[in-house]
Amino acid sequence: MKPYTLIRSKRRTIALMISCDATLVVRAPAHTPLDTIEQFIGKNADWIARTVARLQRRPRAAKKEFVSGEEFFFLGRSCPLEIRNDTHQPLDLRDGFILNANERSRARALFIAWYKNEAKKIIAQRVGWWAGRFDLTYQSVNITCANRRWGSCAPDDRLNFSWRLVMAPMAVIDYVVVHELAHILHKNHSRRFWNKVKAMYPDYKPAQTWLRANEGMLNL
Ligand SMILES: [Zn+2]
Repeated sequence: MKPYTLIRSKRRTIALMISCDATLVVRAPAHTPLDTIEQFIGKNADWIARTVARLQRRPRAAKKEFVSGEEFFFLGRSCPLEIRNDTHQPLDLRDGFILNANERSRARALFIAWYKNEAKKIIAQRVGWWAGRFDLTYQSVNITCANRRWGSCAPDDRLNFSWRLVMAPMAVIDYVVVHELAHILHKNHSRRFWNKVKAMYPDYKPAQTWLRANEGMLNL
């Protein structure tokens, strides 16, 4: 049996999940014996193998090196990086990204700060627009560094979005915004929740598919 991560909790059933690095995570009740857990894993071996294979085929962004010619996503567009000596701003976006040569050692931090700043403006604007259109009230919009979640809606209707989301096309950002706003009415993924998403954003399926297929690319 391949290595897996076991998380025990107060839950009542065993559940399997493949994490984004294509390893198996098992959630189990506090006292379920190990051999019961491993039997369960064995019974689901086909599903595990299929899911791991699918995740491994998914495109993944190589870790960025911050060199000229490297491509960075912004709103679904691929923008090449140019490193120059003659710029005033540490990092700027014109046709592509322009990074000051003296700032290369802190390039990753500069990019994250830049994306966060854009995310705050763009996502807050989209949340305001959709909430106004469908008469929904939220507490606040917060930009997070979440790696695995694009957005979340807290019990008190504070909305959180990962800065990575502004790497995706606007149609995808809108889908995630609508998804979290629909959680103001339904704090679950029930049929009524999905009906609300569909009523607000009828064409959400292609955006959802795009996000699943490309999430590995939306990173630095
Ligand atoms: Zn959700």
